[in-house]
Amino acid sequence: MTDCKVCDYGPELIDWSLSNVQIGNLVDCSETSVRRHKKHAEDPGLTVGHDFPESPVDGVWVPRRSWQTPQGEVLNSFQFVPDSPESVAAHIDNTRIDSLIRDWPFKKLGAYSTPCDMLLPADLQLGKVDAGGGTDGTIQRFLSAIEAGAKRWETLRPHTGVLADLGDLIENMYSTKQQVSTNDRTLPEQIEDAVALYVNAIGRLLPLTENLVVVNVTSNHGEARNELKTNPYTSDNDWGLMIFRLVRGKCEDRGWPVTFVSPSPGEDTAVLELPDGSKVAFNHGHHSCTPAGVKKWLTGQIVGRRPGWDADLWVLGHYHHAYFDTLGDGRFFFGTPSLDPGSSWFTKKSGESSPPAVAAMSVADHQWYDFSLLR
Ligand SMILES: [Zn+2]
Repeated sequence: MTDCKVCDYGPELIDWSLSNVQIGNLVDCSETSVRRHKKHAEDPGLTVGHDFPESPVDGVWVPRRSWQTPQGEVLNSFQFVPDSPESVAAHIDNTRIDSLIRDWPFKKLGAYSTPCDMLLPADLQLGKVDAGGGTDGTIQRFLSAIEAGAKRWETLRPHTGVLADLGDLIENMYSTKQQVSTNDRTLPEQIEDAVALYVNAIGRLLPLTENLVVVNVTSNHGEARNELKTNPYTSDNDWGLMIFRLVRGKCEDRGWPVTFVSPSPGEDTAVLELPDGSKVAFNHGHHSCTPAGVKKWLTGQIVGRRPGWDADLWVLGHYHHAYFDTLGDGRFFFGTPSLDPGSSWFTKKSGESSPPAVAAMSVADHQWYDFSLLR
């Protein structure tokens, strides 16, 4: 006897062209048990050895880690993977989010002098474990860079202070087949951490600027996927957008005056027009496909009069390193470094890696200046 009724019945006796529900009826088990069996049948190195707790939403338990005790006993850990974005949203724990947010006193500093300064965190990929560690390290790097940004704003006193998330804020799942075994946060936990981090960053920065503007964009890791690399809807089906809706709600609860800027419905570029008429466009950059393709992709956006086509400055994430180039007519585009724990996949492939940091720059009179990397 095993814990799996499908194994007990005999997989060789089952017509696998039947639906999960039909197989469940045949074997006398739930449809969930059939899906669980299929998941483990694909991964014979790990065995099901526990009764799984009941879940209020549909999904499967998949193996995350397997290890052997000195006595030779094989132990497994499992993660619950919900079937749909709705299931994930139902799992988000507001109590945990609130427990991670500091009680920020809010008193404006005044004497604002610099027209606009921007802090540009990108590619945190919260939940990801790689050569540089896990999510706890990413959180520390983000908070350290925000503290460096706060020190910068204490000196510059920007009239408009921009905090822009350039996408891939969470690692998500369904990016790679192995993802559940390389993440250290479930998807709901990734979302909870992201909301708490940004509310804390906003609480730290809000007194240091007259107008705090929080920008966010859609991204590939942000897509609310229902299977490997598949977004079943449009760009609006994005966890990044949802995270910043939650952040906005937390700010409103606290009575904090913050302006939020996101892409228009169905679009991926957020456009910000500053009080002096300077225009900045923000996009994750994944549609450009390769780093070398960024300039060509941006030229297409401008020629096609896509959102941001008349911006003075474009800021992009996705490629995990800092770069900039001209775009014609005195305009520029910038790529931002990432805060994630590195990509051993990319480093093995290319030999390259880039130190984690947050880009910052001031903008006035249609030009950028004071570019810096914060750590
Ligand atoms: Zn990306």
